[in-house]
Amino acid sequence: MNAAMAQVPIHAGLFTLPGDPRGARLLAGHCASCDKYHFPAGTTCPYCSGTECSVEAIGARGTLWLHTVVNARPPGYLGPLPYGFGVVDLPEGLRVVTRLAESRLAELRPGLPVTLEIAPLFTNDAGDEVLSFAYRPARGSSS
Ligand SMILES: [Zn+2]
Repeated sequence: MNAAMAQVPIHAGLFTLPGDPRGARLLAGHCASCDKYHFPAGTTCPYCSGTECSVEAIGARGTLWLHTVVNARPPGYLGPLPYGFGVVDLPEGLRVVTRLAESRLAELRPGLPVTLEIAPLFTNDAGDEVLSFAYRPARGSSS
């Protein structure tokens, strides 16, 4: 009875999985032609249409650019409510639309340092923990 729960990503190829030696990272595309990153990773660069794109693990930390708190369940969303949602500026030079692991509006502000975490969002019908990514205010940055 208590079989170990499997953990599955909410969507393959978006982020590193627990135990990955690179740590919690987003899997972004990097274009060899124009040197820009894009997320999610694709085989064609959205900026220059270059096709020499590699997948790089980036985005361990960033700063909050835009944010809101979502109180009503969007279609297909099975995680807890309310939840933070926003856009995070990454030092690698791209902005990522993301869930935030902080749902109290008073704890969020533009420019807030945030760190990436990969964590279970909900349990699916098969009993697996479904992993997703979110940015959380960096420790010690809440005041
Ligand atoms: Zn490019």
